[in-house]
Amino acid sequence: PAVDPAQLLDGMNPQQRAAVVHEGSPLLIVAGAGSGKTRVLTHRIAYLLGARGVHPGEILAITFTNKAAGEMKERVEALVGPRAKAMWVSTFHSSCVRILRQQYKKLGLSSTFSIYDAADSQRLMAMVCRDLDLDAKQYPPRKFNAQVSNLKNELIDPETYAGQAQNDTERKLAEAYTLYQARLRQANALDFDDLIMTTVNLLQAFPDVAEHYRRRFRHVLVDEYQDTNHAQYVLVRELVGGAAGQAPKRTVEGDLVNPAEEGLAEVPPAELCVVGDADQSIYAFRGATIRNILDFEEDYPNAKTILLEQNYRSTQTILAAANAVIERNSNRRAKNLWTDSGQGTKITGYVADDEHAEAQFVADEIDRLTDNEKVVPSQVAVFYRTNAQSRVFEEVFIRVGLPYKVVGGVRFYERKEVRDALAYLRLLANKDDVVSLRRILNVPKRGIGDRAEACVEVLAARDRIPFADALRRAKEAPGMATRSANAIAGFVTLLDQLRSVVDGGAGPATVLEAVLEQSGYLAELQASTDPQDETRIENLQELAAVALEFEQAQPEGTLADFLEQVALVADSDQIPDDDGGVVTLMTLHTAKGLEFPVVFLTGLEDGVFPHMRALGNTKELEEERRLAYVGITRARERLYVTLAKLRSAWGAPSYNPQSRFLGELPESLVDWRSKPPSQGKAMSATRTTMSAPKGRLSGPSSIVDRKVVALKAGDRVTHDKFGLGTVVATQGEGDKAQATIDFGATGTKQLLLRYAPVEKL
Ligand code: ATP
Ligand code: MG
Repeated sequence: PAVDPAQLLDGMNPQQRAAVVHEGSPLLIVAGAGSGKTRVLTHRIAYLLGARGVHPGEILAITFTNKAAGEMKERVEALVGPRAKAMWVSTFHSSCVRILRQQYKKLGLSSTFSIYDAADSQRLMAMVCRDLDLDAKQYPPRKFNAQVSNLKNELIDPETYAGQAQNDTERKLAEAYTLYQARLRQANALDFDDLIMTTVNLLQAFPDVAEHYRRRFRHVLVDEYQDTNHAQYVLVRELVGGAAGQAPKRTVEGDLVNPAEEGLAEVPPAELCVVGDADQSIYAFRGATIRNILDFEEDYPNAKTILLEQNYRSTQTILAAANAVIERNSNRRAKNLWTDSGQGTKITGYVADDEHAEAQFVADEIDRLTDNEKVVPSQVAVFYRTNAQSRVFEEVFIRVGLPYKVVGGVRFYERKEVRDALAYLRLLANKDDVVSLRRILNVPKRGIGDRAEACVEVLAARDRIPFADALRRAKEAPGMATRSANAIAGFVTLLDQLRSVVDGGAGPATVLEAVLEQSGYLAELQASTDPQDETRIENLQELAAVALEFEQAQPEGTLADFLEQVALVADSDQIPDDDGGVVTLMTLHTAKGLEFPVVFLTGLEDGVFPHMRALGNTKELEEERRLAYVGITRARERLYVTLAKLRSAWGAPSYNPQSRFLGELPESLVDWRSKPPSQGKAMSATRTTMSAPKGRLSGPSSIVDRKVVALKAGDRVTHDKFGLGTVVATQGEGDKAQATIDFGATGTKQLLLRYAPVEKL
């Protein structure tokens, strides 16, 4: 159906209209949150199709998330009908995959090339480092992984990096990077960052390919331009192309390269339209740079810039709060964002005793809104700083029967690290659980490869014994390499040690701690500089907190009881989706670009939000503040800000001061709700008596204060469960210290002292 162009412009303000109809030169739309940037992009596409006779196939629109891409496609389809299908609307990564799937031959790839995710590429880098005989302590593979990712985001290839490496570490990294790329190539694989870099290389190395896409995409539109990194910036420039003077090249250092020397294609440049808001740049940690937006006019000299100043999303109260916060950042262009949507309701503030009470407040309040104020759950979003914080909300929401979905993150109990940890616990609780055994056989990596695993399988089949038993006889397995056999023997010893912790009467929290420490799982994550691994540690801390809560609620509960409880939570996944939909839970990063009538901004504590890592670092604090600005501006009508006085991580309670961002909200805008009389807070009360508050990110050893008793052969001891005994022998030290103790009639036990309730007499 032909769209009526006039209708597309209906209700738009003059600046928006100008942006929709602008023709003939690159266009930059910069504006604060909720001013209609995305809407302008959508309407611009519809206008191109409906009023300017552009074919949908000529349009390439880039969004930041697949979800946003889906939404934009839907909106354009609603405006212009099924023709919209020929457009490319996708993320940078998806667009690149599409181009690469069409052009794989040029790159010497086969059509079936695989895309390595973070876990795959980490595995590969570990192999590379091993082959280069790099000491994993001195040159952690995960660190190399992160650094290679940064290099790719800056479009620095291995040869170039090798040429500029200054010191030994950099030279080692260059070596690893080179081999890593060669291995990827051998495996016919690309990692995530390669998708962008390889596409850029393709366009730069093959002028005919570049010309093909420049002829095809006559309109390139990019949303959230403030969050593009250098590689993405160059990709856009290559796709747009252009005559001399239109799209000068910029080196990594930001210097302009003379385009006349570059032999540019004949095709006139595509019409480029980018929209963004420097105040919402929240991905600097992934190499995003607002320079791309600030330098746009320099990069595209005849560009037109349009400012949008009217906010159509939020009430004056919400907008005033957002402005008050973001104004604290230095080096920003002041904006004049206004709204005529009225004052609206005040912001509600709530201080909870602990994170459970915070979640309870949110649940109660949603209940009240749905009962009394015609709000439906789908209009409500709950935001938090880190994925791990979703767990308490999930538990409370499940308990009160409030339908919800967690967006953008894997559900807590489905996260890899949580599942790995639970697999250990399951195996310890049930030695026949072969699925769990297989899962963690080589997790963390301990040199038991697929081949070794296959050899054990052969032995198990031959002798008709369970896999677990065959594992104990791995040496006899046909074809087993000595190195693998040793690795397996080490693993079997680890399991025996961990079982001794369980047999010694330790509760789930202690067992979990022993698993994470003794297996090396935690150490591997702690050594990493990958921000994802920091998240993983936080999630394991959450799991430890769950285990500790369980121990305190059910002192007699066994490991199996705990696992059952956890399994039930994980199973209550299918909450019926009623007409009112579900409450959305997500991190602030995921919330970018979205809007909800009711928003709860939770965990407003210094050390939580702003994140621990950012405290004392002005640059990072400013990024956290932009994140706060993003969060506040998602709300249309009602905003809640909540915090907990006491929050547990690793089960160790911490008392964080209220977030500095709360102090930046004008007092007159916030209604502090007095907290209801405390009910059912027994749990937090017990918890506070447990141990002194510690730093949030302290290790798992802070679950319980532990002293390892120093024992020697001949010492007499008493054990909580096994009674009196005599030390026969000791071995190892520190948290690996073990003692063989003769408990008389109970038998002789080998105990990991760190987790054993023994006292020296
Ligand atoms: P963000 O910076 O958060 O991505 P944005 O600038 O992209 O925000 P949009 O999401 O496009 O803003 O628009 C915000 C809200 O305002 C949407 O609900 C949109 O439909 C509405 N809106 C935008 N412009 C107008 C207008 N001229 N008339 C009515 N509503 C509008
Ligand atoms: Mg937007």
